[in-house]
Amino acid sequence: MAREETSSIMPGNSKLKLNQWQFDNRFVNQLPADPELTNGRRQVLEACYSRVAPTPVVRPKLIGFSREMAEELDLDPAEFETDEFAAVFGGNKLLDGMDPFAMCYGGHQFGNWAGQLGDGRAINLGEVVNRKGAHWTLQLKGAGPTPYSRTADGLAVLRSSIREFLCSEAMFHLGVPTTRALSLVLTGEQVMRDMFYDGNPKNELGAVVCRVAPSFTRFGNFQLFAARGDLKNLKQLVDHTIQADFPELGAPSPEVYAAWFEDVCRRTSEMIIHWMRVGFVHGVMNTDNMSILGLTIDYGPYGWLEDYDPGWTPNTTDASGKRYRFGNQPLVAHWNLYQLGNAILSLVNETEPLQEGLDLYLSEVESGANRMLADKLGLSEYVRATDDQLKQELFEVLTLVETDMTIFYRRLADIPVDESSIDSIVAILSDAYYSPEKIVGETKSRIASWVRHYLSRVKMEGTTDEIRRQRMNRVNPKFVLRNYLAQLAIDRSEAGDHAMIHELLDVLRHPYDEQPEKEKFAAKRPEWARHRPGCSMLSCSS
Ligand code: AMP
Ligand code: MG
Repeated sequence: MAREETSSIMPGNSKLKLNQWQFDNRFVNQLPADPELTNGRRQVLEACYSRVAPTPVVRPKLIGFSREMAEELDLDPAEFETDEFAAVFGGNKLLDGMDPFAMCYGGHQFGNWAGQLGDGRAINLGEVVNRKGAHWTLQLKGAGPTPYSRTADGLAVLRSSIREFLCSEAMFHLGVPTTRALSLVLTGEQVMRDMFYDGNPKNELGAVVCRVAPSFTRFGNFQLFAARGDLKNLKQLVDHTIQADFPELGAPSPEVYAAWFEDVCRRTSEMIIHWMRVGFVHGVMNTDNMSILGLTIDYGPYGWLEDYDPGWTPNTTDASGKRYRFGNQPLVAHWNLYQLGNAILSLVNETEPLQEGLDLYLSEVESGANRMLADKLGLSEYVRATDDQLKQELFEVLTLVETDMTIFYRRLADIPVDESSIDSIVAILSDAYYSPEKIVGETKSRIASWVRHYLSRVKMEGTTDEIRRQRMNRVNPKFVLRNYLAQLAIDRSEAGDHAMIHELLDVLRHPYDEQPEKEKFAAKRPEWARHRPGCSMLSCSS
């Protein structure tokens, strides 16, 4: 995450105006630039980035903002009200100190090497240094074409921008490592999209999100140099990344490269375990969408598990192979790390240290997932002898009938340890079931028998009901960005009413709290949303 130092860059603690931000653009200042300055589509060799300015838009209008992100950037929230803010974050104006550029990277898409991809519609504006000394890169997504736009337009539509804006901040509040979002701006322009690639293009509203992260470097940035045999620039980018974002590892050397890879493996395992904890499915875990910092990045056709189904993928492009299904995410991340390891092999010189990193990833994911499950169940530790079976039976019970994962864990926390009546157990859980009428006979007794098994395990630890509930409710969110909620906010926003964006962001600020007046946002997916595009089916067209 962000490097935090105590050195005070600026005196005082009053909030800053936009024009008071200090920039220190390490990426552009320290790494090789593409010498070509025109904005034509091309292969960019021996460079980490191309300088390119955002394309101005007709009528930028701010419709979403994150006050927590402003706070992190020491920004006075009154700045959100200004025309200048909308101008800067819509792409119409640069602040002094900004030096905009698009990054050059490649990637494996759905398992196949795709060559150069790059920021086709993302433009980095610069690195703000906050008072704590942390570097935060500001990046506009949807701000017009770049040399990496290939055949596409460089733009983004409102629906996908709302999804990116809300999910970035929701994940942050859930405690999941993620890139952030500062703002959401309507451009006042139309963008043509064929949402399901089925020959039905239509005009949609254009929008720009300002994403924020310590760095937006991806596995694919390293892969592209390696694939081109450009070892000089590969080394330069690795050295820069270690010095800027992993300074605690020390001066670059073959040993430090191996330690760095291990750290990336560890961070990635942590991110994946968080995804599994909250029921997040990324949808496009291509290597160009894997952050070197272990942050969730590129919110496209992602989705949230409603009924617990390890085989679910929200991405229609992935419907046949289901490579990026919920339950496969740990293995895909391993596959992606393997590609990263391959890319830096020439720097480390030997395979063993890299293999150790990959093995560490697998063992961390396994033990971390077990610890995470123990937390979700309110147990103080995961004990293989008793809990392997408990876990296996739980996953069977969760897939017997459609069971809302989020509601299930919250309700489980409410079952008293001494409860033994089958009817009472099932009544407490009933809200989690999409078809409560199916909870009869064998199904009902299997659910209740697992719960009794679970309660007997809880008893072994002697935790009180109250303490167990508190523990469980700290890791099992009550509120997540359910697919249909995001879609409702989109429907309203497209019709000109942006209030639900603010309301959802507000609820998702405290995902683990009860918030009784906001109960409707914790409700399971309504039937109308089951097969509705945007709720259960998403595509990369955004
Ligand atoms: P994604 O699947 O969103 O990670 O995108 C894969 C690649 O396509 C990246 O290089 C993106 O920058 C690029 N890309 C996606 N959408 C657009 C667009 N509308 N215009 C230009 N490039 C795009
Ligand atoms: Mg991407």
